[in-house]
Amino acid sequence: MEKIKMVTPLVEMDGDEMTRILWKIIKDELLIPYIDLKTEYYDLGLEKRNETDDQITIDSANATIKYGVAVKCATITPNAARVEEYNLKEMWKSPNGTIRAILDGTVFRAPIVVKGIEPCVSKWKKPITIARHAYGDVYKNTEMKIPGAGKAELVFTAEDGTVTRETIHDFKSAGIIQGIHNIDKSIDSFARSCFNYALDTKQDLWFATKDTISKKYDHNFKDIFQEIFDKEYKEKFDAAGITYFYTLIDDAVARVMKSEGGFIWACKNYDGDVFSDMISSAFGSLAMMTSVLVSPSGVYEYEAAHGTVQRHYYKHLKGEETSTNSVATIFAWTGALRKRGELDNIPELMDFADKLEKATIDTIESGRMTKDLALITSLENVTVLNSENFIKEIRKTLETMI
Ligand code: NAP
Ligand code: MG
Repeated sequence: MEKIKMVTPLVEMDGDEMTRILWKIIKDELLIPYIDLKTEYYDLGLEKRNETDDQITIDSANATIKYGVAVKCATITPNAARVEEYNLKEMWKSPNGTIRAILDGTVFRAPIVVKGIEPCVSKWKKPITIARHAYGDVYKNTEMKIPGAGKAELVFTAEDGTVTRETIHDFKSAGIIQGIHNIDKSIDSFARSCFNYALDTKQDLWFATKDTISKKYDHNFKDIFQEIFDKEYKEKFDAAGITYFYTLIDDAVARVMKSEGGFIWACKNYDGDVFSDMISSAFGSLAMMTSVLVSPSGVYEYEAAHGTVQRHYYKHLKGEETSTNSVATIFAWTGALRKRGELDNIPELMDFADKLEKATIDTIESGRMTKDLALITSLENVTVLNSENFIKEIRKTLETMI
């Protein structure tokens, strides 16, 4: 068989530890034999980030803006222990944070649904995608402990010196206060990313906040979404046969539980943090989630939702066998290849991405899987495979489709 040709390179961001090991096996077994793989390679492994003073991360994000599509391996976000372990010059920032700040995007996470790994909520038949706003609110807060009686105020001093004040509370005794903020421009980008992603994937979009209680803050989110939708997206949604609807966050939670899935749930930063963990655990595991960062300008970065699986890597280094699930990393590649195929009009590439995803799912549904899934599956007579053999079994399934 002739290999599938690519036109524009994918931005390839390599990573760390066990996922770096999987990355190479996936390329060797599932991609290079079938595709004339064209990538612009950036090594975001911690050693290289340290060597380049993290410039490599910035370069990879800029390359993503240039080419439009990236695929990223999980990377270590250094903490004190990592600074020592890797003898780092500095505690480099989270690569995901750096890339997100440059691309100004929203992260969309959706479970990969397979038979035999049933969601805890039995009504859910289709994946629920969480779109999490990645800026501000409680993640950029200023807090204060109030030692005793006194007045706490919200004060805004405009550039021209005009002062606006609101009383937060007249304290009679000790307490606490917190200041949070967001920026219209960031909410605007968040809304556009959500609308574009809904059109892209032809799914309804839900958005919810607590605007009945937070009449200015949360209401601002609601208004920005509605204004952009009415002006720029309503007709496109009608044409695509999908809907946008806004409701209260508590109502949304109740409806999600009773739904069949198959929609996008846009969440403010904190809600997205909490509900994405709820959705992923209710659907099975982090290793069975896709994750893509979509910028308002239409740039895409595909990754796995989990980390570098450090504990497995140390076993691997000791020469012990590992059974690490590569599904999320495989789907990062298929997502990126399909998008590249779509943008460059290469139907064979899109078709290959579909087939590789199907081969992955079929392999699991036939009872061949990694240990994490074997522990939660309802299938019987399961074969537990090691990291490498699982990928090789997927290749066998793929061979029967091509
Ligand atoms: P993790 O890598 O997600 O792993 C936590 C545990 O979850 C693992 O020990 C394993 O459980 C299970 N697990 C996760 N992915 C799995 C997979 N593909 N197959 C099988 N089991 C899987 O999180 P972590 O150990 O807390 O973090 C390790 C490093 O990853 C950290 O340095 C962190 O900074 C980084 N991180 C990166 C990203 C990213 O780049 N997107 C995201 C999160 C964390 P068992 O050990 O019980 O088998
Ligand atoms: Mg969380």
